[in-house]
Amino acid sequence: MSSLRIRLFPRAETAVRSGHPWVYGDSIREQSRPGDPGELAIVYDRNDRFLAAGFFDPDSPIRLRILQHRKPAKIDRAFWNERLHAARDLRLHNGVFAPGTTGGRWINGESDGFPGLVADRYGTTVVVKLYSPAWLARWTEIEGLLREVFNPEFLVLRLSRNLMGRAERAWGMGEGFRGDAGEEIVVFEENGLKFEAAVLHGQKTGFFLDQRENRQRAGLLAQGRACLNAFSYSGGFSLYAARGGASSVTDLDISGYALESAQRNFALNQAIPEIAPVRHELIQADAFDWLKGSPAGQFGLAVLDPPSLAPRQADRESALEGYASLAAGGIRVLGPGGILIAASCSSHVNAEEFFTTVRSALQRSGRRWREEWTSGHAADHPATFPEAHYLKAICARLEP
Ligand code: SAH
Repeated sequence: MSSLRIRLFPRAETAVRSGHPWVYGDSIREQSRPGDPGELAIVYDRNDRFLAAGFFDPDSPIRLRILQHRKPAKIDRAFWNERLHAARDLRLHNGVFAPGTTGGRWINGESDGFPGLVADRYGTTVVVKLYSPAWLARWTEIEGLLREVFNPEFLVLRLSRNLMGRAERAWGMGEGFRGDAGEEIVVFEENGLKFEAAVLHGQKTGFFLDQRENRQRAGLLAQGRACLNAFSYSGGFSLYAARGGASSVTDLDISGYALESAQRNFALNQAIPEIAPVRHELIQADAFDWLKGSPAGQFGLAVLDPPSLAPRQADRESALEGYASLAAGGIRVLGPGGILIAASCSSHVNAEEFFTTVRSALQRSGRRWREEWTSGHAADHPATFPEAHYLKAICARLEP
């Protein structure tokens, strides 16, 4: 079969030329034939010269995920190998896996040149999650390379929901350990703290590795404070706060499973002298309601880390209202001198509009405050294009 040839409308052509890795269906002006999921397509520019090569997916609004632009390249083993080494070197040069940290992201999709593929390390286990059908056909080659470059003892494959049916039907592939089976719950270390990752069934690949640096920042601010960790999941922020000298930590999550995991993570860290004596409370509730209804002024530090409130562009407005209401609730439960850390992982809400929303809530509270810091992505979660910048956080301190 002849290769799939594509031409784009001018705006998309410009975007691809400058390195944007996504082409939406409505940006495609011409296509030589219907394409198959995951096949390699070649994009030609208005002068019929090579512009880019990428994975085609007729079933996704992101019709094309660009692998290579401007200069033609052979997409072979050597091509992937070079990218894997670049991804590994980036983490190693940035000290992501310093002593005391065995959990972090090895490959962050598009931003590491692997569109629709994420690979996370938890100790000696690597968990790979695929979001594009293109990887199914190439899996044997990629798995072999991942094993060579990252040398995991165990390797777990996870699939996005929309890939599961196709993977099973067309490739006989399912989720789970490839080769030797390891533990379903893997204990790893992050900045000297022990955590469990539910590598087979947990959210994402089993843990929220992207918040590592914000958790550390929270730990530095916790001394002597009663800390609320709203949307706690497995208690990550609370463990840092406890080690940082918090007087108490409260994990608030709607999921009982998350809270049980937080309890186990606390148990795992009892050998740390700062952590053992800290009172750890668990509250299973909807954080939006709870923040509105619980006594005002009871905490010295409040962390708000909700799941994405805007999974789709259409949810943007309601997401901003959600962030405003959460921030107002977080401020309400803070006493004089209290510290608020508010995070957003909605890619459809940009950093500035999120920060503005939180600052307005602070303003509206009528309390005096100052901003401590804002943050974005850590080095193991590089973001090379606007849509990839999903995580942002802001920290403010109320006047005593
Ligand atoms: N801060 C965590 C990650 C949070 S993930 C960490 O550092 O690891 C988001 C969490 O929000 C999930 O555990 C989910 O169960 C919880 N959640 C979702 N909706 C919620 C709600 N309305 N109220 C409370 N928790 C909620």
